Amino acid sequence: MAALTIRAVRCILTAPGPSKLSPGGGALQRRLIVVKVETSEPGLYGLGCATFTQRHRAVQTVVEEYLAPLLIGRDPRQIEDLWQTLHVNAYWRHGPVVNNAMSGVDQALWDILGKLAGLPVYQLLGGQCRAGAAVYRHADGRDPVEVEDNVRRFVEQGVRYVRAQMGGYGGRAALPAGPQGKPAGHYYDPDAYATSVPRLFAHLRDKLGDEVQLLHDVHERLVPITAVRLAKELEPFRLFFLEDLLPPEQLEWFQMVRQQCSTPLAMGELFVSPLEWRPLVSGRLIDFIRCHLSDLGGLTPARKLATVCETFGIRTAWHGPGDVSPIGHAVNIHLDLAAPNFGVQEWAGFNEVELEMFPGCPELRDGYVYLSDRPGLGIDFNEELAARYPCPDGVLEWTQTRLPDGTAVAP
Ligand code: MG
Repeated sequence: MAALTIRAVRCILTAPGPSKLSPGGGALQRRLIVVKVETSEPGLYGLGCATFTQRHRAVQTVVEEYLAPLLIGRDPRQIEDLWQTLHVNAYWRHGPVVNNAMSGVDQALWDILGKLAGLPVYQLLGGQCRAGAAVYRHADGRDPVEVEDNVRRFVEQGVRYVRAQMGGYGGRAALPAGPQGKPAGHYYDPDAYATSVPRLFAHLRDKLGDEVQLLHDVHERLVPITAVRLAKELEPFRLFFLEDLLPPEQLEWFQMVRQQCSTPLAMGELFVSPLEWRPLVSGRLIDFIRCHLSDLGGLTPARKLATVCETFGIRTAWHGPGDVSPIGHAVNIHLDLAAPNFGVQEWAGFNEVELEMFPGCPELRDGYVYLSDRPGLGIDFNEELAARYPCPDGVLEWTQTRLPDGTAVAP
């Protein structure tokens, strides 16, 4: 094929119903963002995930008003050059809006390259190191016994890794009295949460034994010194990993955690720049990197990050929540299959509408996720169906998180 050029770049928004299995976010209306890159070759197009559900219109504007004019007429096979061009073109770089916009384009270019080659994308990355990706699922409950029951339910389905929470992020303990006139919001008590977690895992290990791999997500809900204490207190229960123990603004505290205990640590879903992950990786301060691929800028930067982590003995556990499109989940799995240092994959599952809207979704069977094995990313997108599920606008409620005295904090 001689001349092949990008003919059109479009951004399609859709909200195919609530997440099937997402603790704390079950009723969340997810706004998915798909980028479609069309080429001069009839019928040859690529799809990418640009989902930033909290700022969907901003991503759409960046794709359509700024990236599309830069891309039209260029060769879609020059993935690295195009990624670098988009990355530096605004001079100021990094950030979730522009990175997600770039990810939609970048993943679509890999999809096109795979279709041109007649190969799944993981083959372009060096071929598979494993046939399927082991996943972890989310179990929640109001008390330790209910959490235990929900962990067992996943184990019976063949899942070997389960993330256990009690009452969602930060727990659901009764709140101490706050000042009069405190604003509405999603309140939680970090002290009650911190004391509840070791009790939960003592119960789970006692009742479930050592067969199941247990994980937990702190979701940045603790002040740093309490986070250090929690990591120490969880050490006897042999977690597979403890996730997002600290916020990105407090990375230096990981040194102290490391000095105090050997609880495995996973970090990175909020990272948007190498400046954030580099000190943690080079300092061997975490055990799993779990960035959100579209927030990094797509597959191109993520595959490099995986390789850097490999050299430091750090495994991958890419972020896989409900507010990633099935295309984004497929990209995670391509990288999972190709990376020698794959650890585990977070798996939110798809609802019925998504399965119909995205033909070729990866499939979960007995604890492992498998790809469709078609060329490219192996997944398609039904735009007519997507148009029947338009994105709602409006203010997000669940991210208005507050401490008992009314202080606004990260969700
Ligand atoms: Mg998390």
